Amino acid sequence: MPMCTVCDRRGAIFKRVYSGQQLCARCFCRSIEQKVQATASKYEMLQPDDKIMVAVSGGKDSVVLLRLLARMEEAFPKTTLRAVTIDEGVRGYRDEALEIAVKNCQELGVEHTVVSFKGMFGYELDRLVTLIREKGMKGLTPCAYCGVLRRQALNVAAREAGADKLATGHSLDDETQTMLLNIIHGDALRIARVAPVLPVAHPKLVQRIKPVCEVLEREIVLYAYLKKLRFHDTPCPYAGTALRNDVRSMLNRMEQKHPGTKFAIYRSIERIRPGLESLAKDGALQNCRFCGEPTVAQTCRSCQMLRELGIS
Ligand code: SF4
Ligand SMILES: [Zn+2]
Ligand SMILES: [Zn+2]
Repeated sequence: MPMCTVCDRRGAIFKRVYSGQQLCARCFCRSIEQKVQATASKYEMLQPDDKIMVAVSGGKDSVVLLRLLARMEEAFPKTTLRAVTIDEGVRGYRDEALEIAVKNCQELGVEHTVVSFKGMFGYELDRLVTLIREKGMKGLTPCAYCGVLRRQALNVAAREAGADKLATGHSLDDETQTMLLNIIHGDALRIARVAPVLPVAHPKLVQRIKPVCEVLEREIVLYAYLKKLRFHDTPCPYAGTALRNDVRSMLNRMEQKHPGTKFAIYRSIERIRPGLESLAKDGALQNCRFCGEPTVAQTCRSCQMLRELGIS
Protein backbone atom coordinates (compact mmCIF):
# COMPACT_ATOMS: atom_id res chain seq x y z
CA MET A 1 0.00 0.00 0.00
CA PRO A 2 1.50 3.43 -0.91
CA MET A 3 2.22 5.84 1.94
CA CYS A 4 0.06 8.90 2.59
CA THR A 5 1.66 11.90 0.86
CA VAL A 6 0.49 14.26 3.64
CA CYS A 7 1.55 12.55 6.90
CA ASP A 8 4.06 10.07 5.48
CA ARG A 9 3.02 7.69 8.24
CA ARG A 10 -0.07 5.68 7.31
CA GLY A 11 -1.04 3.76 4.20
CA ALA A 12 -2.98 5.71 1.56
CA ILE A 13 -6.56 4.59 0.88
CA PHE A 14 -7.48 7.30 -1.66
CA LYS A 15 -5.80 8.86 -4.65
CA ARG A 16 -6.96 12.40 -5.34
CA VAL A 17 -6.29 12.37 -9.05
CA TYR A 18 -6.76 16.11 -9.70
CA SER A 19 -4.13 17.06 -7.08
CA GLY A 20 -1.86 14.03 -7.25
CA GLN A 21 -2.18 13.41 -3.48
CA GLN A 22 -2.47 9.95 -1.95
CA LEU A 23 -4.23 10.13 1.39
CA CYS A 24 -4.69 7.92 4.43
CA ALA A 25 -8.19 7.81 5.95
CA ARG A 26 -7.32 10.33 8.66
CA CYS A 27 -5.70 12.89 6.35
CA PHE A 28 -8.52 12.46 3.85
CA CYS A 29 -11.22 13.22 6.46
CA ARG A 30 -9.19 16.12 7.78
CA SER A 31 -8.84 17.52 4.25
CA ILE A 32 -12.63 17.49 3.80
CA GLU A 33 -13.21 19.20 7.15
CA GLN A 34 -10.56 21.84 6.34
CA LYS A 35 -12.01 22.36 2.87
CA VAL A 36 -15.51 23.02 4.22
CA GLN A 37 -14.13 25.34 6.89
CA ALA A 38 -12.15 27.21 4.23
CA THR A 39 -15.22 27.52 1.97
CA ALA A 40 -17.28 28.84 4.90
CA SER A 41 -14.70 31.51 5.75
CA LYS A 42 -13.92 32.43 2.11
CA TYR A 43 -17.58 33.28 1.48
CA GLU A 44 -18.23 34.51 5.07
CA MET A 45 -21.04 32.00 5.39
CA LEU A 46 -21.17 31.72 9.16
CA GLN A 47 -21.31 34.09 12.11
CA PRO A 48 -20.72 33.01 15.74
CA ASP A 49 -24.37 33.58 16.76
CA ASP A 50 -26.09 32.08 13.70
CA LYS A 51 -29.36 30.20 13.91
CA ILE A 52 -28.81 27.62 11.21
CA MET A 53 -31.47 25.41 9.70
CA VAL A 54 -29.95 22.46 7.86
CA ALA A 55 -31.91 20.82 5.07
CA VAL A 56 -31.44 17.10 5.72
CA SER A 57 -32.92 14.78 3.14
CA GLY A 58 -31.15 11.74 4.58
CA GLY A 59 -28.94 11.45 1.49
CA LYS A 60 -25.13 11.44 1.69
CA ASP A 61 -24.61 15.16 1.01
CA SER A 62 -26.99 16.42 3.67
CA VAL A 63 -25.93 13.84 6.27
CA VAL A 64 -22.27 14.83 5.82
CA LEU A 65 -23.20 18.53 5.86
CA LEU A 66 -25.07 18.08 9.16
CA ARG A 67 -22.13 16.22 10.67
CA LEU A 68 -19.61 18.87 9.57
CA LEU A 69 -21.75 21.79 10.75
CA ALA A 70 -22.33 20.10 14.12
CA ARG A 71 -18.56 19.71 14.41
CA MET A 72 -17.94 23.35 13.48
CA GLU A 73 -20.72 24.51 15.84
CA GLU A 74 -18.86 23.02 18.84
CA ALA A 75 -16.41 25.92 18.60
CA PHE A 76 -19.26 28.47 18.60
CA PRO A 77 -21.56 27.89 21.61
CA LYS A 78 -23.86 30.77 20.59
CA THR A 79 -24.69 29.13 17.26
CA THR A 80 -27.80 26.98 17.13
CA LEU A 81 -28.36 24.15 14.69
CA ARG A 82 -31.71 22.68 13.71
CA ALA A 83 -32.66 20.38 10.87
CA VAL A 84 -35.64 20.00 8.59
CA THR A 85 -36.60 17.23 6.20
CA ILE A 86 -39.08 17.83 3.42
CA ASP A 87 -41.42 14.92 2.86
CA GLU A 88 -42.42 15.30 -0.79
CA GLY A 89 -44.87 12.43 -0.58
CA VAL A 90 -43.21 9.79 -2.78
CA ARG A 91 -44.43 6.40 -1.62
CA GLY A 92 -41.74 3.83 -0.83
CA TYR A 93 -38.92 6.36 -1.19
CA ARG A 94 -39.10 9.02 1.47
CA ASP A 95 -39.94 6.78 4.46
CA GLU A 96 -36.50 5.19 4.82
CA ALA A 97 -34.74 8.51 4.16
CA LEU A 98 -36.82 10.13 6.90
CA GLU A 99 -35.86 7.45 9.40
CA ILE A 100 -32.17 7.96 8.55
CA ALA A 101 -32.48 11.75 8.88
CA VAL A 102 -34.14 11.35 12.30
CA LYS A 103 -31.41 8.93 13.49
CA ASN A 104 -28.58 11.23 12.38
CA CYS A 105 -30.17 14.21 14.14
CA GLN A 106 -30.76 12.19 17.31
CA GLU A 107 -27.13 11.05 17.40
CA LEU A 108 -25.97 14.65 17.18
CA GLY A 109 -28.65 16.05 19.52
CA VAL A 110 -30.01 18.30 16.76
CA GLU A 111 -33.70 19.25 16.88
CA HIS A 112 -35.45 17.95 13.78
CA THR A 113 -38.75 18.75 12.08
CA VAL A 114 -40.53 17.30 9.07
CA VAL A 115 -42.49 19.46 6.64
CA SER A 116 -44.64 17.71 4.06
CA PHE A 117 -45.86 18.87 0.65
CA LYS A 118 -49.27 17.53 1.72
CA GLY A 119 -49.30 19.76 4.81
CA MET A 120 -47.95 22.84 3.05
CA PHE A 121 -49.50 22.64 -0.41
CA GLY A 122 -52.35 20.16 0.17
CA TYR A 123 -50.97 17.51 -2.23
CA GLU A 124 -48.30 14.84 -2.17
CA LEU A 125 -45.88 14.71 -5.10
CA ASP A 126 -47.30 11.30 -6.14
CA ARG A 127 -50.73 12.93 -6.55
CA LEU A 128 -49.28 15.86 -8.48
CA VAL A 129 -47.49 13.46 -10.84
CA THR A 130 -50.78 11.61 -11.46
CA LEU A 131 -52.44 14.94 -12.27
CA ILE A 132 -49.55 15.98 -14.57
CA ARG A 133 -49.94 12.68 -16.46
CA GLU A 134 -53.76 12.82 -16.54
CA LYS A 135 -53.64 16.32 -17.96
CA GLY A 136 -50.97 15.33 -20.49
CA MET A 137 -48.70 18.20 -19.39
CA LYS A 138 -45.49 17.46 -21.22
CA GLY A 139 -43.41 20.57 -20.56
CA LEU A 140 -42.17 19.87 -17.03
CA THR A 141 -40.85 16.78 -15.24
CA PRO A 142 -41.85 15.73 -11.69
CA CYS A 143 -38.44 17.07 -10.56
CA ALA A 144 -39.29 20.53 -11.89
CA TYR A 145 -42.42 20.65 -9.70
CA CYS A 146 -40.64 19.02 -6.79
CA GLY A 147 -37.70 21.47 -6.93
CA VAL A 148 -39.89 24.57 -6.92
CA LEU A 149 -42.15 23.35 -4.11
CA ARG A 150 -39.25 22.07 -2.01
CA ARG A 151 -37.38 25.38 -2.30
CA GLN A 152 -40.43 27.22 -1.01
CA ALA A 153 -41.13 24.65 1.72
CA LEU A 154 -37.54 24.88 2.99
CA ASN A 155 -37.62 28.66 3.11
CA VAL A 156 -40.94 28.71 4.98
CA ALA A 157 -39.72 26.04 7.43
CA ALA A 158 -36.48 27.93 8.11
CA ARG A 159 -38.24 31.28 8.49
CA GLU A 160 -40.90 29.90 10.83
CA ALA A 161 -38.20 28.35 13.00
CA GLY A 162 -36.55 31.79 13.31
CA ALA A 163 -33.42 30.69 11.39
CA ASP A 164 -31.16 33.28 9.77
CA LYS A 165 -29.30 30.75 7.57
CA LEU A 166 -30.57 27.82 5.56
CA ALA A 167 -27.76 25.37 4.84
CA THR A 168 -28.14 22.92 1.98
CA GLY A 169 -25.90 20.01 0.97
CA HIS A 170 -25.20 21.05 -2.62
CA SER A 171 -21.91 19.47 -3.67
CA LEU A 172 -19.47 20.59 -6.35
CA ASP A 173 -21.17 18.10 -8.67
CA ASP A 174 -24.61 19.66 -8.01
CA GLU A 175 -23.29 23.16 -8.69
CA THR A 176 -21.58 22.26 -11.96
CA GLN A 177 -24.62 20.28 -13.15
CA THR A 178 -26.90 23.22 -12.34
CA MET A 179 -24.58 25.57 -14.19
CA LEU A 180 -24.67 23.43 -17.33
CA LEU A 181 -28.45 22.97 -17.09
CA ASN A 182 -28.91 26.74 -16.84
CA ILE A 183 -26.74 27.20 -19.92
CA ILE A 184 -28.79 24.55 -21.78
CA HIS A 185 -31.96 26.44 -20.81
CA GLY A 186 -30.38 29.82 -21.60
CA ASP A 187 -31.34 31.06 -18.15
CA ALA A 188 -28.94 33.95 -17.40
CA LEU A 189 -30.75 34.91 -14.19
CA ARG A 190 -30.30 31.42 -12.77
CA ILE A 191 -26.65 31.30 -13.88
CA ALA A 192 -26.14 34.41 -11.75
CA ARG A 193 -27.79 32.65 -8.83
CA VAL A 194 -25.49 29.60 -8.78
CA ALA A 195 -23.55 30.83 -5.76
CA PRO A 196 -22.24 29.48 -2.44
CA VAL A 197 -24.14 32.22 -0.56
CA LEU A 198 -27.31 33.70 -1.98
CA PRO A 199 -28.05 37.36 -1.28
CA VAL A 200 -31.19 38.02 0.77
CA ALA A 201 -33.47 39.79 -1.69
CA HIS A 202 -36.61 39.94 0.48
CA PRO A 203 -37.28 39.97 4.24
CA LYS A 204 -39.22 36.70 3.94
CA LEU A 205 -36.25 34.89 2.39
CA VAL A 206 -33.78 33.13 4.67
CA GLN A 207 -30.19 33.35 3.46
CA ARG A 208 -29.07 30.16 1.75
CA ILE A 209 -25.57 28.83 2.26
CA LYS A 210 -23.88 25.81 0.66
CA PRO A 211 -20.89 24.84 2.83
CA VAL A 212 -20.01 21.63 0.90
CA CYS A 213 -20.26 23.21 -2.55
CA GLU A 214 -16.51 22.84 -3.15
CA VAL A 215 -16.38 19.12 -2.33
CA LEU A 216 -16.78 16.45 -5.00
CA GLU A 217 -19.71 14.08 -4.51
CA ARG A 218 -17.44 11.01 -4.57
CA GLU A 219 -15.36 12.49 -1.76
CA ILE A 220 -18.54 13.19 0.24
CA VAL A 221 -19.47 9.51 -0.16
CA LEU A 222 -16.02 8.39 0.99
CA TYR A 223 -16.16 10.73 4.00
CA ALA A 224 -19.58 9.31 4.96
CA TYR A 225 -18.24 5.79 4.57
CA LEU A 226 -15.07 6.44 6.61
CA LYS A 227 -17.05 8.16 9.36
CA LYS A 228 -19.55 5.29 9.30
CA LEU A 229 -22.48 7.63 8.68
CA ARG A 230 -25.79 6.10 7.66
CA PHE A 231 -27.33 7.67 4.58
CA HIS A 232 -30.15 6.92 2.18
CA ASP A 233 -28.96 5.70 -1.18
CA THR A 234 -32.12 4.56 -2.96
CA PRO A 235 -32.89 6.63 -6.05
CA CYS A 236 -36.20 8.46 -6.23
CA PRO A 237 -38.56 6.74 -8.69
CA TYR A 238 -38.96 10.02 -10.61
CA ALA A 239 -35.22 10.73 -10.92
CA GLY A 240 -34.89 8.95 -14.26
CA THR A 241 -37.02 11.57 -15.99
CA ALA A 242 -34.64 14.43 -15.25
CA LEU A 243 -32.24 15.95 -17.79
CA ARG A 244 -29.89 16.42 -14.83
CA ASN A 245 -29.12 12.67 -14.93
CA ASP A 246 -27.67 12.94 -18.42
CA VAL A 247 -25.70 16.05 -17.51
CA ARG A 248 -24.37 14.20 -14.44
CA SER A 249 -23.21 11.21 -16.54
CA MET A 250 -21.59 13.51 -19.09
CA LEU A 251 -19.68 15.43 -16.40
CA ASN A 252 -18.58 12.21 -14.72
CA ARG A 253 -17.22 10.91 -18.01
CA MET A 254 -15.37 14.21 -18.60
CA GLU A 255 -13.96 14.20 -15.05
CA GLN A 256 -12.66 10.69 -15.54
CA LYS A 257 -11.00 11.56 -18.81
CA HIS A 258 -9.82 15.03 -17.77
CA PRO A 259 -9.44 15.16 -13.95
CA GLY A 260 -10.25 18.61 -12.61
CA THR A 261 -13.01 19.37 -15.13
CA LYS A 262 -15.63 19.95 -12.42
CA PHE A 263 -13.34 22.36 -10.55
CA ALA A 264 -12.62 24.16 -13.84
CA ILE A 265 -16.35 24.65 -14.44
CA TYR A 266 -16.83 25.79 -10.84
CA ARG A 267 -14.03 28.36 -11.22
CA SER A 268 -15.55 29.57 -14.47
CA ILE A 269 -18.84 30.18 -12.61
CA GLU A 270 -16.84 32.25 -10.12
CA ARG A 271 -15.40 34.34 -12.95
CA ILE A 272 -18.71 34.78 -14.78
CA ARG A 273 -20.83 35.59 -11.71
CA PRO A 274 -19.59 39.18 -11.04
CA GLY A 275 -20.61 40.17 -14.57
CA LEU A 276 -24.10 38.84 -13.97
CA GLU A 277 -24.61 40.13 -10.45
CA SER A 278 -26.63 43.14 -11.57
CA LEU A 279 -29.02 40.66 -13.24
CA ALA A 280 -29.49 38.75 -10.00
CA LYS A 281 -30.37 41.97 -8.17
CA ASP A 282 -32.78 43.16 -10.86
CA GLY A 283 -36.52 42.97 -10.33
CA ALA A 284 -37.56 43.73 -6.77
CA LEU A 285 -39.39 40.83 -5.19
CA GLN A 286 -43.01 41.19 -4.17
CA ASN A 287 -45.45 39.02 -2.21
CA CYS A 288 -47.34 36.42 -4.21
CA ARG A 289 -50.99 37.42 -4.48
CA PHE A 290 -52.10 33.91 -3.54
CA CYS A 291 -49.72 32.57 -0.89
CA GLY A 292 -47.82 35.73 0.12
CA GLU A 293 -44.38 34.21 -0.50
CA PRO A 294 -41.67 36.30 -2.25
CA THR A 295 -41.78 36.26 -6.03
CA VAL A 296 -40.60 38.25 -9.05
CA ALA A 297 -44.01 38.09 -10.73
CA GLN A 298 -47.44 38.66 -9.18
CA THR A 299 -47.88 34.92 -8.73
CA CYS A 300 -45.09 32.74 -7.37
CA ARG A 301 -43.86 29.73 -9.31
CA SER A 302 -45.41 27.26 -6.83
CA CYS A 303 -48.88 28.81 -7.08
CA GLN A 304 -48.48 29.12 -10.84
CA MET A 305 -47.66 25.41 -11.18
CA LEU A 306 -50.45 24.29 -8.86
CA ARG A 307 -52.94 26.52 -10.65
CA GLU A 308 -51.91 25.09 -14.01
CA LEU A 309 -52.85 21.70 -12.55
CA GLY A 310 -56.19 23.22 -11.53
CA ILE A 311 -55.64 22.72 -7.80
CA SER A 312 -54.89 26.08 -6.26
S1 SF4 B 1 -35.55 13.04 -7.93
FE1 SF4 B 1 -36.89 14.69 -8.57
S2 SF4 B 1 -38.91 14.11 -7.80
FE2 SF4 B 1 -37.44 12.83 -6.72
S3 SF4 B 1 -37.01 13.95 -4.80
FE3 SF4 B 1 -35.43 14.57 -6.32
S4 SF4 B 1 -36.26 16.42 -7.29
FE4 SF4 B 1 -37.97 15.38 -6.21
ZN1 LIG C 1 -2.02 10.71 6.27
ZN1 LIG D 1 -47.71 31.77 -4.26
